[in-house]
Amino acid sequence: MAWAGNRPLSGTQVMPRLVVGVTGGIGSGKSTVCSAFAALGVPFVDADIVAREVVEPGQPALEEIRREFGSSVFLDHETLDRSALRTQVFADATAKTRLENIIHPRVRDRIHDAISNCTADYMLVCIPLLLESGAYQDIIDRVLVIDCSEETQIKRVIVRSGLTRSEVEAIMRAQKSRAERLAAADDVLLNEGDLRDITARVGELHQKYQALAATD
Ligand code: ATP
Repeated sequence: MAWAGNRPLSGTQVMPRLVVGVTGGIGSGKSTVCSAFAALGVPFVDADIVAREVVEPGQPALEEIRREFGSSVFLDHETLDRSALRTQVFADATAKTRLENIIHPRVRDRIHDAISNCTADYMLVCIPLLLESGAYQDIIDRVLVIDCSEETQIKRVIVRSGLTRSEVEAIMRAQKSRAERLAAADDVLLNEGDLRDITARVGELHQKYQALAATD
């Protein structure tokens, strides 16, 4: 694969011409918005899904996790016991870093691969902790922040996950604040309305990104 800077070179063109990083706080609506883009035919890769794929049975990350954390975080030889692993990681900050050192480079490599295999003019990369991680600046051209009030985030996550308000608030405290995210945004999609509002706003952004990709 030939590359131009950080981008794969397809024929004489750098493809995709535009990579949009989608981010937002927990429950802001990132997946919902990405699905609306996908309905328009826009390819996207979701870092949360990739993070689950790299620890599926047979993946090399599993052996590293076994070496670091032992067999007690496995249900059987092939299957990770996510809840046991979560317990270890919550109890020990160094364990969290060790786990991230195994998972994150693999997620990043797969996202890189997804970009290099993309033949569309533009694509989306959904990374919940895009701004927190700092590991994606070189592959992202624009940041699209999915925004809503903190109260809306809390209500959505409680309904979806059954977590308590204080559990959701603790997760939110570990993420960038709403103001910090908005300050880093190139584009903002305010997701306080209904699905029709999302479809309309996604349609506008789609036109904008197509135009940007055509002129980049
Ligand atoms: P997470 O960070 O937790 O992965 P997310 O940012 O991807 O979440 P979604 O999963 O898209 O957010 O949305 C969170 C919940 O809120 C889902 O149950 C979704 O159906 C709901 N939701 C999202 N947007 C809206 C909306 N505009 N109106 C009503 N419900 C919504």
